[in-house]
Amino acid sequence: PARIWGYGVHPNVITSLQFERYLSPGGPTEGRLLRPSDGRPVRRVAFLQCVGSRDKNHCNNEYCSSVCCMYAIKEAMSAKEADHEVEVVIFYTDMRTHGKEFDRYFERARDTYGVRFVRSRVHGVEPAGSGDLRLRSINTRGRQVEETYDLVVLSVGLETPESMVRLAERIGIHMTPDRFASISAFMPVHTSKKGVFTCGAFNGPRDIPQSVIGGSAVAASVAALLAPVRHTRTVPVPQPTEQDVRDREPRIGVFICHCGTNIAGVVDVEEVATYAATLPQVVHVERNLFTCAQDTQDRMVQQIRARGLNRIVVAACTPRTHEPLFRKTLKSAGINEYLVEMANIRNQNAWVHGQQPEAATEKAMDLVRMAVAKVATLTALKPLRIRILPAVLVLGGGVAGMTAALNLAAQGFRVHLVEKSSQLGGNALHLFQTWNGEQVPPFLRALKEQVAAQENIEVYYNSRVTAVSGHVGNFASTVRTGKSRKQVLAHGAVILTTGAKRYIPEEFEYGKIPKVVASIEFDKLHMHNETRVAGGKSFVFIQCVGSRNALRPYCSKSCC
Ligand SMILES: Cc1cc2nc3c(=O)[nH]c(=O)nc-3n(C[C@H](O)[C@H](O)[C@H](O)COP(=O)(O)OP(=O)(O)OC[C@H]3O[C@@H](n4cnc5c(N)ncnc54)[C@H](O)[C@@H]3O)c2cc1C
Ligand code: SF4
Ligand code: SF4
Ligand code: SF4
Repeated sequence: PARIWGYGVHPNVITSLQFERYLSPGGPTEGRLLRPSDGRPVRRVAFLQCVGSRDKNHCNNEYCSSVCCMYAIKEAMSAKEADHEVEVVIFYTDMRTHGKEFDRYFERARDTYGVRFVRSRVHGVEPAGSGDLRLRSINTRGRQVEETYDLVVLSVGLETPESMVRLAERIGIHMTPDRFASISAFMPVHTSKKGVFTCGAFNGPRDIPQSVIGGSAVAASVAALLAPVRHTRTVPVPQPTEQDVRDREPRIGVFICHCGTNIAGVVDVEEVATYAATLPQVVHVERNLFTCAQDTQDRMVQQIRARGLNRIVVAACTPRTHEPLFRKTLKSAGINEYLVEMANIRNQNAWVHGQQPEAATEKAMDLVRMAVAKVATLTALKPLRIRILPAVLVLGGGVAGMTAALNLAAQGFRVHLVEKSSQLGGNALHLFQTWNGEQVPPFLRALKEQVAAQENIEVYYNSRVTAVSGHVGNFASTVRTGKSRKQVLAHGAVILTTGAKRYIPEEFEYGKIPKVVASIEFDKLHMHNETRVAGGKSFVFIQCVGSRNALRPYCSKSCC
């Protein structure tokens, strides 16, 4: 369907994925917004939403791809960041920004970045001379509007590749009419075939966080199946013998990361490198476009060996996410993994001093100098072995808590499931069925029965955690049951599944007029065929009550 919008016909019609590459420092234009046809700077760019999604006429994809509203906003803001002068317009049917902080993100794009959102379906892209493109659309007053743009970006959706549809057929996995894996709402990573699991975009339109969550869920499901044979066939990865560097003079290597333009767009990395080379005991300095890239890792190992480095400084991002990687690099080079120091010249410098490049460069030099001074004093360490308690505290016995508890128990872990009320089930206790008609009460019943039958799970009803001490691997939590009983539980990890309580409306005469009910109550009235619904002829739903307002500026995601 993209051809209808001039894709493959007019060079200045590109897909959102191509646009993202244009915005990338590692992309074809190194992050500058240049037109594909003539390399001229882009001044006006239009995004067309729902291309290849929600469209029965031009393609067979009737579903919402769910990721393209958010990525269009993200790309529009990135375009504005790359060039404040560029005008960005998003033509949409409706913006689907459902999720934590997504609505706020949309408002920031509109109000702070000046991205223009136009509710209108464009019905034609035509050449307007010199590579420009003319868009025709109908505005909200029913008038035809014509506007000219330098670049048109098609917000294309997701679909399952044909080859996978055929493969699914051969394996015997049921697919939905939209050609995604058919799954139950209650077992969202299990395909129709036992032992075959799925997650990510094969499962349905998913963004990256959802794909990552799905990946972990699949791994946990498989781990439960494989638990009986765990550790029976593991072999250690061979590592080079570690050099003893105790009596050697420090030979420090400094690796300065550009992080594309994240750091190099603000900090004068060349100046920082020149400065680093003057610091005591520094014998090697180099700059890398992306220090965490695999090819850079391989080169770092070579440099550590070739230059006889016995400790390194990585001036890049946060050790919280990246130190384990650089420790591994050192280990692969035969150096003790603790002889590394990171200088956070991105998060704590380039990102916060974007408007003060000179000061940021000076600060980067300071941070590097401190890291060099520190790494010179480090001594090789041996990892400590500490006992990890193979037990987990799960706080909250709703659907999430019970599912987590059952999986952990199946993997052989002891689970303490703490629930503040007198029964398990949480919000799902009030639900009747899912959108596709799967019945919630029997699912919940089965879940509770499994929890009750699982020897590894202990449920603490009417209980609350009143104190927690210890650290990862070794926690001690005090659980108070009822008014008087107190006990201390030992566990290695905690899972918080305390859910969310529903909003209690103060508007629409809720609580005053008996026939004004919340949707969660409406479901329950149906379950019991209560008189208010049994004899009802017409019902009206009022959406977004308590969501997407100044106090709660997010879409609650489940109420539509
Ligand atoms: C245009 C576009 C923009 C997006 N922007 C964002 C965004 O900004 N933020 C966000 O969170 N999400 C975004 N997404 C969604 C995001 O890309 C997906 O959620 C995520 O990539 C899904 O990961 P996945 O591993 O399930 O699938 P994929 O990323 O598609 O990976 C599947 C892999 O499987 C391989 N493969 C396919 N068939 C076979 C086979 N038969 N055998 C072996 N290998 C096979 C493929 O080559 C591929 O490497 C975007 C998606 C699109 C299409
Ligand atoms: S996420 Fe937005 S652009 Fe994508 S199909 Fe849904 S409504 Fe259309
Ligand atoms: S190491 Fe950190 S700063 Fe460097 S490219 Fe990777 S993420 Fe960016
Ligand atoms: S009703 Fe709920 S899900 Fe629908 S838009 Fe409003 S807040 Fe989002």
